[in-house]
Amino acid sequence: MFKYQSVLLVDDDPIQIAVLKGYFNSLGTKTIHQAGDAASALALLQSKKDSVDLIVSDLQMPNMDGLEFLRHLKIAQYFGRLAIISGVKHDLLDHAGRLASMHNLNFIGKISKPMTKVKLDDLFLAKPADFVTTPSKIDKIISQDEFSAALAGGEILPFYQPKFDVKTGRIVGAEALARWYQPGIGFISPEVFIRFAEQNGRIEDLTFSLFDNVLRDTQRFIVHNRDQKIAVNLAAELIKNISLPDKLLDQMRFAEIEPENISFEVTESSILNLDVSTLEVLSRLRISGFDVAIDDFGTGSSNIKTLRDFPYSELKIDRDFIKDVLTNAFSAETVRTSIALAREMGMVVVAEGIEDQETLEYIRSKGIEHAQGYHLSKPLSADNYCAVLAYCAENFQHLNSKNAA
Ligand code: C2E
Ligand code: MG
Ligand code: MG
Repeated sequence: MFKYQSVLLVDDDPIQIAVLKGYFNSLGTKTIHQAGDAASALALLQSKKDSVDLIVSDLQMPNMDGLEFLRHLKIAQYFGRLAIISGVKHDLLDHAGRLASMHNLNFIGKISKPMTKVKLDDLFLAKPADFVTTPSKIDKIISQDEFSAALAGGEILPFYQPKFDVKTGRIVGAEALARWYQPGIGFISPEVFIRFAEQNGRIEDLTFSLFDNVLRDTQRFIVHNRDQKIAVNLAAELIKNISLPDKLLDQMRFAEIEPENISFEVTESSILNLDVSTLEVLSRLRISGFDVAIDDFGTGSSNIKTLRDFPYSELKIDRDFIKDVLTNAFSAETVRTSIALAREMGMVVVAEGIEDQETLEYIRSKGIEHAQGYHLSKPLSADNYCAVLAYCAENFQHLNSKNAA
């Protein structure tokens, strides 16, 4: 029996779909689902999650491209196999393959268009031993009550990943990243519980609870370093709400923290279209003195448009491009154009996901201002971040007094 009994074909070209349908039919596949774009594929998958054992996807599709689709497949915890068929250039196809593997998807291979029976056979009739199998995290089922109890009980707290000035090596601030530690179980992946919060109307509760903790922690941080900024991630849904700036400012006043010490990060893919409320919210945040960064830059599909339409002060290049900037021409080009765009618009550039010294040297040579990544520091608990700040303050002071002497 052919090993793929339930296949999902994702392509906006009906001819490609027809060819693939014929091919899988001839091999005896029982169920063949089809979708003309990534969003319909995800919706379909949601209802058939356990039964789809192979997805064959195009890369260039309207609304959501194939690369973004890969990220959503990871978020949706799709455990079946995945193959990519596309007419894009070879290096981009390689890049997509690497991205799929990096997402821990069960990626079996790629085919460049035009597809032929030989190419299809090589891929789909290969022995199972050829497949890359990657372990995936088990999805955790979260209930509303459990989530409320975790928030109220202080189980969900911000950790802080330091951001560094690339030139001087000094800490310029940190990104607050939500962490849920459940006693007896361990850390629950932020992707799992943030997705839960976004899909179940709890993202506002989560963000304000985290913000409360961030402000309290910042009171301690600024004792050691007054100039730093702590960045908070804002989900798409929140930035559409025009009462957001007032709520945040009220909380800030109460905690006596100035906007200069806080910044916000907004994911690029979450705001592709110019929306009046979003524009008002982001503009008001900027006018109030906050920095606003466009996060995960390069992963959405209308980069230049979003940059022009919204008042960002900082551009964060996504870690997927930084990770292989030294070896992949496509990533290097994405980084180069991102820097050029940011320069044109007077934005500060941040590189996230720096994992080695060579990459740090590279981004330094390109004039990127700030860096963040495991090579520099993993996210730290508030106590540990505070200790690092105290240590830096002492040692810089020591150096300064030595210089003065
Ligand atoms: P993000 O905002 O792009 O955050 C950066 C992510 O990159 C973090 O993942 C961080 O731990 C990870 N990271 C940092 N340096 C490296 C590195 O060198 N290598 C690799 N491989 N990864 C690195 P994390 O904490 O798992 O968060 C994932 C995403 O969840 C975040 O991506 C952000 O979009 C979202 N998130 C986290 N906290 C919050 C929150 O409080 N609110 C909202 N709305 N989203 C949040
Ligand atoms: Mg972020
Ligand atoms: Mg990011």
